[in-house]
Amino acid sequence: MNETIQALTIAGFDSGGGAGMQADLKTFQERFVFGTSVLTALPIQNTQGVKKVYDISLEAIQDQLDVVNEDFSISAVKTGMLFNTDITQLVTTFLKTADFGPVVVDPVMIAKSGHALLKESAVKALISELLPQAYIVTPNIPEAEVITNMTISTKNDRITAARKIQALGAKNIVIKGGHHLEMEQSSDLLLLEDGQIEWLSAPRINTKNTHGTGCTFSACITAELAKGNTVKSAVHTAKGFIQAAIANEIQVGLGNGPTNHWA
Ligand code: PLP
Repeated sequence: MNETIQALTIAGFDSGGGAGMQADLKTFQERFVFGTSVLTALPIQNTQGVKKVYDISLEAIQDQLDVVNEDFSISAVKTGMLFNTDITQLVTTFLKTADFGPVVVDPVMIAKSGHALLKESAVKALISELLPQAYIVTPNIPEAEVITNMTISTKNDRITAARKIQALGAKNIVIKGGHHLEMEQSSDLLLLEDGQIEWLSAPRINTKNTHGTGCTFSACITAELAKGNTVKSAVHTAKGFIQAAIANEIQVGLGNGPTNHWA
């Protein structure tokens, strides 16, 4: 029997099942990749938002990383919510020596409900330590603005921002367009390692049920990279996957619901 392809998510929790680790594991499963997981933070959240965040100790995070490392054969790894500087540094140090394949960094900062998922003081560590480890990084526009310290209004701004992020050490960059609400198309910018640029466009879908879309998108990229696909192919697959997930709405919870993963 061939060994099953395995991936790892290093992420925060969502009792509501729509974002963070839960979204990642569901996505891995739907992409036929076995998911392992390391919990970095315990937000108390449902579809109505994040109420508070409980810390997970550094020791507990390190122990989880170690048990995954000693037992599994990980072909790709993604990072999501890292919450503070110490966690960001611990995870970065670990990833430098672990043989986990391509590193997908979703630079999670603020939930759509407005709650901080990364302390402001940790942005520096994210930029200087984690980004240089990233095979691909997937910021939305507000996250790209924080990373580059620039305002992004036009498509040209986005190209400039992507090149700046590449100069910080990340190899491939996707700046997602979901936050550019005035655009009819939801266009994501992909900047590849060799400098090639591509826009991936899809019709904008007006729905409030987009909780966890960023997590799902980057988890899909991770699963496809784990299978050995190219970054370009992985991003195209993820764009189609998230578009279908948003289009086939489901209604769970009273607030901003998650996307439909079986689309
Ligand atoms: N909760 C966790 C643990 C996350 O990692 C993320 C990811 O960005 C979110 C919530 C974001 O949720 P939303 O898509 O509603 O912004």
